[in-house]
Amino acid sequence: MKILIAEDENIARHRLEKFLEGMDYEVISCKDGLDAWNVIQSENAPNLLILDWMMPGMDGVEICRKVREQGREPYTYILLLTVKDKQENIIHGMEAGADDYITKPFNQNELRVRLKAGRRIVELNKELFDTRNALRKKATYDELTGLYNRHSMGEILEKEYTRALRYQTDLSCLLVDIDYFKVINDTFGHIFGDSILRKFSACLKRKARKHDFVFRYGGEEFMALLPNTGIDGARSVAEKIRSACESKTYKNENNVIIATVSIGVASMKHHQPSESKELIAFADKALYRAKSEGRNRVCVYLKDSSMKSIEDKISETKDFSYLKENISSILEKTKKASIQSLCLMVQNLGASQYQKHNHQVIQYIGLIGERFNLPPSIIESFKNAALLHDNFKILQKKTLKKKSKGLKTRDKIEIESHPDMMAELTELFNFFANERSLLQHHHENFDGSGYPVGLKGNEIPLGARIFAVVDSMVAMLSERPFRKGLPPEKVIEEFADNAGTQFDPKLVFMLFDIIEKQGLLSVPEAVLMKVKERAQEAMGKCYS
Ligand code: GH3
Ligand code: MG
Ligand code: MG
Ligand code: MG
Repeated sequence: MKILIAEDENIARHRLEKFLEGMDYEVISCKDGLDAWNVIQSENAPNLLILDWMMPGMDGVEICRKVREQGREPYTYILLLTVKDKQENIIHGMEAGADDYITKPFNQNELRVRLKAGRRIVELNKELFDTRNALRKKATYDELTGLYNRHSMGEILEKEYTRALRYQTDLSCLLVDIDYFKVINDTFGHIFGDSILRKFSACLKRKARKHDFVFRYGGEEFMALLPNTGIDGARSVAEKIRSACESKTYKNENNVIIATVSIGVASMKHHQPSESKELIAFADKALYRAKSEGRNRVCVYLKDSSMKSIEDKISETKDFSYLKENISSILEKTKKASIQSLCLMVQNLGASQYQKHNHQVIQYIGLIGERFNLPPSIIESFKNAALLHDNFKILQKKTLKKKSKGLKTRDKIEIESHPDMMAELTELFNFFANERSLLQHHHENFDGSGYPVGLKGNEIPLGARIFAVVDSMVAMLSERPFRKGLPPEKVIEEFADNAGTQFDPKLVFMLFDIIEKQGLLSVPEAVLMKVKERAQEAMGKCYS
């Protein structure tokens, strides 16, 4: 253990040095108080001090007082060396912060035991200090990346938000999420995934400035808080991060990959959040948009449009293309889900080595698509096609292997990668193709007087004719906001009158026959007989 002695009398100092070195202390010795004070202020200064009371420059008691004022950590133990043994002097020294004292000339045994007590206190304090620091570090920083963790984010965000409000400065928030990280993990393994997270974090930290805060917000989500930065500055920092990621590669023994990021940006002055959490919520919405617009991009939160709900927007603008856009996002999700199921199917066949190839193809398609400035939705569809291609190819290979055993290799390959077969398989995913014809023609009338095309009789798809009959009946019977439902007799009359003109008479007959047999409407049997007869009459005319 290091010990500092400060003693101006040479003989006494040499004696002390010798004695302490004999006890295995690493001794730093000073001839006056100022020297001693300078040593105490230096890095790795000893925490155990023996100070002479009377010294030139600065006396021992003054050093005591100044050390205590500083509140040095870990604790510094001070033993005063004095010829004064008057009680009030000792009280004076202890009050200044000394822990113990010994009078000169000192008795070696006494000094040894007193130092032993001091040393124990220094050691205990050092241990406590280290433990507390380790705990503090654990509570503040993320173990994997060394960035601030989510826990410390709350505190720092609140502090910076309040500071920005008070001093009328700006504060921006970036939410950064790695694209398709799950695929990277699943394909290349968690260990590689972890090393990417570490390197990525270091890169993020380098792109941030000294006063910025960078957090690991979740698994592969990060947040940067940028004090004194407005929306334009924040956008350009985000763009720098995005483009750095795009050109950064991660390597392990067998692979070189790129991991792009999507970033959402929000700023206090520009977006006027009502509380600190709302700033993050805004950035999160922007991030969501960056993801849905194709990833590998920066989006700033759109104040006006995204504050309104989708419903408000639809009723406000009655904009059909907007509605279409919203509904297509459902389709996008369905496509993704279908492709994921296919990927799983392929994985279960034990062909996961293709994922790596696929991942790279998709990355290049993204990069080229961006260079062309293609709309994100188009780039997405190219990527989807590449995914379908690889999955179909494997499935075809696995299932056609048996059948093509007798063929030569070249023929086998042709069969296995036949583009027509891929097209046919893709058609299976056109899952609303049949439904489409029903929807398009459900306002056609049996006599050809309907719309949009004016199809007649059996030209109208059967599904559309069935739907027209059933939908009309249920609608007539049920209550609507501005009218009561019609009584069943009236509904039946309506069908009797319109069988053969609006409705397919055969279907009218069938419907009321079912209703009669199963007792689905409480009307007299005669009424049902009447509508069936009328339908049969119409059938006679129409089909004669
Ligand atoms: P998106 O482009 O929509 O962000 O897709 P994504 O796959 O990145 O997003 P998702 O949230 O579906 O998946 C995140 C994945 O991150 C899930 C998990 O496998 C991975 N992950 C989360 N935490 C860790 C971690 O500490 N280490 C590793 N290796 N992977 C992690
Ligand atoms: Mg002296
Ligand atoms: Mg992600
Ligand atoms: Mg995520």
